[in-house]
Amino acid sequence: HAKSTGRNTYQYYRASVGEGATDLFAMESSLRAAIEKNELEVMYQPQISLATGKITGTEALVRWHHPERGLVMPADFIPLAEETGLIVPLGEWVMRRACAQNAEWQKDGFAPMRVAVNLSARQLRIRTLAEKVAQILDETGLDPVWLELELTETMVMRGTNDVIGIMQQLKSLGVCFSIDDFGTGYSSLSYLKRFPINAIKIDRSFVQGVPHDFDDATISKAIIGLGHSLSLKVIAEGVENAEQLAFLREHQCCEAQGYYFSRPVSADALTALLRSNIAMADFPGAR
Ligand code: C2E
Ligand code: MG
Ligand code: MG
Ligand code: MG
Repeated sequence: HAKSTGRNTYQYYRASVGEGATDLFAMESSLRAAIEKNELEVMYQPQISLATGKITGTEALVRWHHPERGLVMPADFIPLAEETGLIVPLGEWVMRRACAQNAEWQKDGFAPMRVAVNLSARQLRIRTLAEKVAQILDETGLDPVWLELELTETMVMRGTNDVIGIMQQLKSLGVCFSIDDFGTGYSSLSYLKRFPINAIKIDRSFVQGVPHDFDDATISKAIIGLGHSLSLKVIAEGVENAEQLAFLREHQCCEAQGYYFSRPVSADALTALLRSNIAMADFPGAR
């Protein structure tokens, strides 16, 4: 009995590993082809000024429309893209799409706004990144001031001198940086002074517990205070209800994004939102 159990376990193990590997391999080759086959889409989530209730920018978030699997979310393919290096062409594609779309909104007469693009650690290590970004801005005709690059604390910390250099090059182009998922990564705050950062984004995990969870509320307030002291813009991520919004406004958070205002939507749906020119939340004197 013991033997057969062992054998079954072994076979099961082999089968699952084999399947997993084949699966991953299949995923990798289909992801490789996804750009050319036009299966990727950039969605846009509005960022809202808490002073006016108006849209001040969008975050570009990639989606994969897989022919068999349907809609695949970034959590299910960005890690693979990072491991295989596919994130480099993929990230470039997202940036080009997002910049072109943002330039188009401006051309169509909407008030200029930022578009935030997520960078991966791998991209930040490319020595020619600034040249590539400059080329994309040039091709799409987007003024660099309307491009924001989102990095995480860990990415910035691990990068050291090379990263500072690349960030300085990008900054001199005129693009700006925000720190995504702020508070979840590296604990030394000194990098906020050493790196050319414009904004920090309070991670959703803190915003979630606001206002009732004492720790989350304390951390969120501390991050807002830190941002103000260092003249950084503070954006709250993952705002899902009016209570969270009220807390963030009360504590002078600058901007917010989250399902309460809008989920990430297609470019066309965002155009409709812009066209309606509504305040995304009720503010005294917002209209
Ligand atoms: P992120 O940059 O922190 O993006 C915010 C994530 O939170 C998005 O998930 C967004 O849809 C989700 N979100 C926004 N508001 C709410 C809310 O109110 N409640 C909840 N529960 N979630 C909310 P998404 O689009 O699935 O992206 C996940 C992550 O994948 C992103 O986290 C980012 O790290 C990465 N990612 C997405 N697109 C790209 C890309 O083009 N390049 C790179 N390198 N990473 C990307
Ligand atoms: Mg982000
Ligand atoms: Mg985030
Ligand atoms: Mg994130």
